[in-house]
Amino acid sequence: MDNNEPVIEVTDLVRRFGHQVVLNGVNLQIHRGETMVIMGGSGSGKSTLLRHMIGSLQPDSGSIRLLGQELSALDEEGLNGIRKKFGILFQSGALFNSMTVAENVALPLREHTLLDHNISDFQGKIKLELVGLREHADKFPAQISGGMKKRAGLARALAMDPEIILFDEPDSGLDPVRVSYLDELVKKIQEETGATFLIITHNIASVMRTSDYIAVLYQAGLVKFASKDEMRTTDNPLIRQFLAGRAMGPIGMDELAEERTEIERE
Ligand code: ADP
Ligand code: MG
Repeated sequence: MDNNEPVIEVTDLVRRFGHQVVLNGVNLQIHRGETMVIMGGSGSGKSTLLRHMIGSLQPDSGSIRLLGQELSALDEEGLNGIRKKFGILFQSGALFNSMTVAENVALPLREHTLLDHNISDFQGKIKLELVGLREHADKFPAQISGGMKKRAGLARALAMDPEIILFDEPDSGLDPVRVSYLDELVKKIQEETGATFLIITHNIASVMRTSDYIAVLYQAGLVKFASKDEMRTTDNPLIRQFLAGRAMGPIGMDELAEERTEIERE
Protein backbone atom coordinates (compact mmCIF):
# COMPACT_ATOMS: atom_id res chain seq x y z
CA MET A 1 0.00 0.00 0.00
CA ASP A 2 1.01 3.60 -0.66
CA ASN A 3 2.72 5.09 2.39
CA ASN A 4 0.64 8.25 2.35
CA GLU A 5 -2.59 6.31 2.23
CA PRO A 6 -4.51 6.31 5.53
CA VAL A 7 -4.24 3.14 7.62
CA ILE A 8 -7.96 3.47 8.27
CA GLU A 9 -10.34 5.46 6.12
CA VAL A 10 -14.04 5.62 6.91
CA THR A 11 -16.24 7.32 4.31
CA ASP A 12 -19.92 8.23 4.73
CA LEU A 13 -20.49 5.28 7.06
CA VAL A 14 -24.18 4.77 7.84
CA ARG A 15 -25.43 2.04 10.15
CA ARG A 16 -28.87 1.36 11.61
CA PHE A 17 -30.10 -1.23 14.06
CA GLY A 18 -33.78 -1.62 13.20
CA HIS A 19 -35.16 1.92 13.03
CA GLN A 20 -32.39 3.37 15.18
CA VAL A 21 -29.69 5.18 13.23
CA VAL A 22 -26.49 4.57 15.19
CA LEU A 23 -23.93 5.99 12.77
CA ASN A 24 -25.18 8.69 10.46
CA GLY A 25 -22.51 9.37 7.85
CA VAL A 26 -19.16 9.13 9.64
CA ASN A 27 -16.00 10.33 7.86
CA LEU A 28 -12.50 10.00 9.27
CA GLN A 29 -8.97 8.97 8.39
CA ILE A 30 -6.05 7.89 10.46
CA HIS A 31 -2.45 7.59 9.28
CA ARG A 32 0.34 5.27 10.33
CA GLY A 33 1.82 5.90 13.74
CA GLU A 34 -0.92 8.27 14.84
CA THR A 35 -3.24 7.99 17.80
CA MET A 36 -6.93 8.66 17.34
CA VAL A 37 -9.23 8.91 20.32
CA ILE A 38 -12.97 8.36 19.96
CA MET A 39 -15.09 10.11 22.58
CA GLY A 40 -18.80 10.24 23.14
CA GLY A 41 -21.49 9.47 25.67
CA SER A 42 -22.68 6.02 26.44
CA GLY A 43 -24.72 4.61 23.52
CA SER A 44 -23.35 7.13 21.00
CA GLY A 45 -21.96 4.38 18.75
CA LYS A 46 -18.27 4.23 19.67
CA SER A 47 -18.05 0.45 19.97
CA THR A 48 -20.24 0.03 16.90
CA LEU A 49 -17.80 2.19 14.93
CA LEU A 50 -14.87 0.12 16.17
CA ARG A 51 -16.63 -3.11 15.23
CA HIS A 52 -17.11 -1.83 11.68
CA MET A 53 -13.41 -1.08 11.51
CA ILE A 54 -12.49 -4.68 12.26
CA GLY A 55 -15.08 -5.97 9.81
CA SER A 56 -17.23 -7.65 12.45
CA LEU A 57 -20.18 -5.43 11.42
CA GLN A 58 -21.07 -4.34 7.88
CA PRO A 59 -22.30 -0.83 7.08
CA ASP A 60 -25.69 -0.12 5.52
CA SER A 61 -23.84 2.27 3.24
CA GLY A 62 -20.47 3.93 3.00
CA SER A 63 -17.03 2.40 2.90
CA ILE A 64 -14.20 1.34 5.20
CA ARG A 65 -10.69 0.99 3.83
CA LEU A 66 -8.09 -0.69 6.00
CA LEU A 67 -4.42 -0.76 5.04
CA GLY A 68 -5.46 0.10 1.50
CA GLN A 69 -8.11 -2.59 1.19
CA GLU A 70 -11.85 -2.08 0.89
CA LEU A 71 -13.38 -4.26 3.62
CA SER A 72 -16.60 -5.04 1.73
CA ALA A 73 -14.51 -6.53 -1.09
CA LEU A 74 -12.84 -9.09 1.20
CA ASP A 75 -14.05 -12.63 1.76
CA GLU A 76 -13.82 -14.32 5.17
CA GLU A 77 -10.24 -15.42 4.53
CA GLY A 78 -9.24 -11.90 3.52
CA LEU A 79 -10.92 -10.49 6.63
CA ASN A 80 -9.14 -12.96 8.88
CA GLY A 81 -5.85 -11.96 7.29
CA ILE A 82 -6.50 -8.31 8.01
CA ARG A 83 -7.73 -9.00 11.55
CA LYS A 84 -4.34 -10.48 12.38
CA LYS A 85 -2.92 -6.99 11.95
CA PHE A 86 -5.06 -5.75 14.84
CA GLY A 87 -4.25 -5.98 18.51
CA ILE A 88 -7.36 -5.49 20.60
CA LEU A 89 -7.70 -4.65 24.27
CA PHE A 90 -11.30 -4.58 25.38
CA GLN A 91 -12.63 -2.93 28.51
CA SER A 92 -13.22 -6.28 30.12
CA GLY A 93 -9.94 -7.44 28.53
CA ALA A 94 -10.30 -10.55 30.60
CA LEU A 95 -7.23 -12.64 31.16
CA PHE A 96 -7.82 -16.32 31.68
CA ASN A 97 -7.60 -16.89 35.42
CA SER A 98 -6.35 -20.43 35.10
CA MET A 99 -3.28 -19.37 33.13
CA THR A 100 -0.24 -17.44 34.26
CA VAL A 101 0.37 -13.94 32.95
CA ALA A 102 3.03 -15.30 30.58
CA GLU A 103 0.71 -18.01 29.27
CA ASN A 104 -2.04 -15.46 28.68
CA VAL A 105 0.29 -13.26 26.67
CA ALA A 106 1.67 -16.14 24.59
CA LEU A 107 -1.83 -17.47 23.85
CA PRO A 108 -2.48 -15.57 20.58
CA LEU A 109 0.85 -16.82 19.23
CA ARG A 110 0.05 -20.39 20.20
CA GLU A 111 -3.40 -20.11 18.62
CA HIS A 112 -2.63 -18.21 15.44
CA THR A 113 0.89 -19.16 14.48
CA LEU A 114 2.78 -22.38 13.93
CA LEU A 115 5.63 -21.21 16.13
CA ASP A 116 7.23 -23.69 18.45
CA HIS A 117 5.84 -23.16 21.98
CA ASN A 118 9.27 -22.26 23.32
CA ILE A 119 9.46 -19.45 20.81
CA SER A 120 5.89 -18.27 21.52
CA ASP A 121 6.73 -18.15 25.22
CA PHE A 122 9.92 -16.24 24.55
CA GLN A 123 8.10 -13.70 22.34
CA GLY A 124 5.48 -13.33 25.07
CA LYS A 125 8.23 -12.55 27.58
CA ILE A 126 9.56 -9.79 25.32
CA LYS A 127 6.10 -8.15 25.33
CA LEU A 128 5.91 -8.50 29.13
CA GLU A 129 9.27 -6.78 29.38
CA LEU A 130 7.90 -3.96 27.21
CA VAL A 131 5.00 -3.34 29.62
CA GLY A 132 7.17 -3.71 32.72
CA LEU A 133 5.76 -7.03 33.89
CA ARG A 134 8.64 -9.44 33.36
CA GLU A 135 8.98 -10.12 37.06
CA HIS A 136 5.30 -11.02 37.31
CA ALA A 137 5.26 -13.41 34.36
CA ASP A 138 4.62 -16.52 36.42
CA LYS A 139 1.86 -15.08 38.60
CA PHE A 140 -1.82 -15.76 38.05
CA PRO A 141 -4.21 -12.86 37.26
CA ALA A 142 -5.70 -13.05 40.78
CA GLN A 143 -2.25 -12.29 42.21
CA ILE A 144 -1.69 -8.98 40.38
CA SER A 145 -3.33 -5.53 40.62
CA GLY A 146 -5.94 -4.06 38.25
CA GLY A 147 -3.34 -1.84 36.60
CA MET A 148 -1.05 -4.81 36.02
CA LYS A 149 -3.94 -6.76 34.47
CA LYS A 150 -4.47 -3.97 31.94
CA ARG A 151 -0.77 -3.99 31.14
CA ALA A 152 -0.86 -7.77 30.73
CA GLY A 153 -3.87 -7.31 28.39
CA LEU A 154 -1.83 -4.78 26.46
CA ALA A 155 1.12 -7.19 26.23
CA ARG A 156 -1.28 -9.81 24.89
CA ALA A 157 -2.68 -7.35 22.34
CA LEU A 158 0.91 -6.75 21.20
CA ALA A 159 1.80 -10.43 20.92
CA MET A 160 1.33 -10.65 17.16
CA ASP A 161 3.14 -7.35 16.45
CA PRO A 162 -0.05 -5.67 15.23
CA GLU A 163 -0.02 -2.62 12.96
CA ILE A 164 -3.16 -1.22 14.56
CA ILE A 165 -3.99 -1.35 18.25
CA LEU A 166 -7.57 -0.86 19.42
CA PHE A 167 -8.47 -0.02 23.00
CA ASP A 168 -12.08 0.09 24.09
CA GLU A 169 -12.00 2.06 27.36
CA PRO A 170 -8.69 0.68 28.63
CA ASP A 171 -8.66 3.07 31.58
CA SER A 172 -11.98 2.11 33.14
CA GLY A 173 -11.56 1.14 36.76
CA LEU A 174 -8.05 2.60 37.06
CA ASP A 175 -7.03 5.47 39.31
CA PRO A 176 -5.45 8.60 37.71
CA VAL A 177 -1.87 7.54 38.49
CA ARG A 178 -2.34 4.18 36.78
CA VAL A 179 -4.14 5.80 33.83
CA SER A 180 -1.21 8.14 33.43
CA TYR A 181 1.22 5.22 33.57
CA LEU A 182 -0.81 3.38 30.91
CA ASP A 183 -0.67 6.52 28.72
CA GLU A 184 3.12 6.66 29.06
CA LEU A 185 3.21 3.06 28.01
CA VAL A 186 1.06 3.76 24.94
CA LYS A 187 3.50 6.52 23.91
CA LYS A 188 6.52 4.30 24.48
CA ILE A 189 5.03 1.42 22.52
CA GLN A 190 4.11 3.76 19.72
CA GLU A 191 7.69 5.04 19.56
CA GLU A 192 9.13 1.54 19.60
CA THR A 193 6.70 -0.14 17.20
CA GLY A 194 5.33 2.68 15.02
CA ALA A 195 1.86 1.20 15.47
CA THR A 196 -1.36 3.13 14.93
CA PHE A 197 -3.60 3.48 17.99
CA LEU A 198 -7.35 3.85 18.18
CA ILE A 199 -8.57 4.47 21.69
CA ILE A 200 -12.07 4.90 23.09
CA THR A 201 -11.92 6.75 26.37
CA HIS A 202 -13.82 9.18 28.60
CA ASN A 203 -10.74 10.30 30.42
CA ILE A 204 -10.03 13.84 29.19
CA ALA A 205 -6.60 14.05 30.79
CA SER A 206 -5.71 10.86 28.99
CA VAL A 207 -7.08 12.17 25.68
CA MET A 208 -4.91 15.27 25.99
CA ARG A 209 -1.80 13.19 26.73
CA THR A 210 -2.12 10.55 24.04
CA SER A 211 -4.17 11.77 21.07
CA ASP A 212 -3.12 13.24 17.75
CA TYR A 213 -6.69 13.24 16.42
CA ILE A 214 -10.01 13.24 18.23
CA ALA A 215 -13.42 12.09 16.99
CA VAL A 216 -16.47 13.06 19.03
CA LEU A 217 -19.69 11.10 18.54
CA TYR A 218 -22.98 12.40 19.83
CA GLN A 219 -26.48 11.04 19.21
CA ALA A 220 -25.73 9.05 16.07
CA GLY A 221 -23.64 11.81 14.57
CA LEU A 222 -19.96 12.47 14.32
CA VAL A 223 -19.84 15.98 15.78
CA LYS A 224 -16.27 16.63 14.77
CA PHE A 225 -13.11 14.87 13.70
CA ALA A 226 -9.98 16.99 13.91
CA SER A 227 -6.48 17.26 15.30
CA LYS A 228 -6.09 17.74 19.03
CA ASP A 229 -4.93 21.32 18.54
CA GLU A 230 -7.90 22.17 16.40
CA MET A 231 -10.22 20.59 18.96
CA ARG A 232 -8.62 22.63 21.75
CA THR A 233 -9.39 25.92 20.06
CA THR A 234 -12.76 25.17 18.48
CA ASP A 235 -15.82 27.32 19.22
CA ASN A 236 -18.17 24.37 18.88
CA PRO A 237 -20.05 24.37 22.22
CA LEU A 238 -20.52 20.59 22.23
CA ILE A 239 -16.81 19.95 21.75
CA ARG A 240 -15.90 22.53 24.36
CA GLN A 241 -18.20 20.86 26.81
CA PHE A 242 -16.75 17.43 26.08
CA LEU A 243 -13.17 18.56 26.45
CA ALA A 244 -13.84 20.64 29.53
CA GLY A 245 -15.69 17.73 31.09
CA ARG A 246 -18.44 20.10 32.21
CA ALA A 247 -21.78 18.71 33.27
CA MET A 248 -23.52 21.95 32.28
CA GLY A 249 -23.81 22.70 28.59
CA PRO A 250 -25.47 21.34 25.48
CA ILE A 251 -25.04 17.77 26.67
CA GLY A 252 -26.48 16.78 29.99
CA MET A 253 -23.85 14.30 30.98
CA ASP A 254 -21.90 14.17 34.17
CA GLU A 255 -19.79 11.13 33.43
CA LEU A 256 -17.13 13.37 31.91
CA ALA A 257 -16.96 15.70 34.86
CA GLU A 258 -14.38 13.83 36.86
CA GLU A 259 -11.25 15.71 35.98
CA ARG A 260 -10.44 19.31 35.26
CA THR A 261 -8.62 19.71 32.01
CA GLU A 262 -6.18 22.06 30.40
CA ILE A 263 -9.01 23.89 28.64
CA GLU A 264 -10.87 24.32 31.92
CA ARG A 265 -7.78 25.77 33.62
CA GLU A 266 -7.03 28.24 30.83
P1 ADP B 1 -21.09 3.08 22.87
O1 ADP B 1 -19.97 2.13 22.66
O2 ADP B 1 -20.81 4.48 22.37
O3 ADP B 1 -21.55 3.13 24.30
P2 ADP B 1 -22.56 1.28 21.15
O4 ADP B 1 -21.82 1.41 19.87
O5 ADP B 1 -22.30 0.08 21.97
O6 ADP B 1 -22.36 2.60 22.02
O7 ADP B 1 -24.12 1.32 20.85
C1 ADP B 1 -24.74 2.39 20.14
C2 ADP B 1 -26.22 2.13 20.02
O8 ADP B 1 -26.45 1.02 19.18
C3 ADP B 1 -26.89 1.79 21.35
O9 ADP B 1 -28.15 2.41 21.38
C4 ADP B 1 -27.02 0.30 21.32
O10 ADP B 1 -28.14 -0.11 22.06
C5 ADP B 1 -27.20 0.03 19.84
N1 ADP B 1 -26.65 -1.28 19.46
C6 ADP B 1 -25.34 -1.62 19.53
N2 ADP B 1 -25.15 -2.87 19.06
C7 ADP B 1 -26.37 -3.34 18.72
C8 ADP B 1 -26.85 -4.56 18.15
N3 ADP B 1 -26.01 -5.57 17.86
N4 ADP B 1 -28.17 -4.69 17.92
C9 ADP B 1 -29.02 -3.66 18.19
N5 ADP B 1 -28.65 -2.47 18.69
C10 ADP B 1 -27.33 -2.31 18.96
MG1 MG C 1 -18.88 0.88 24.03
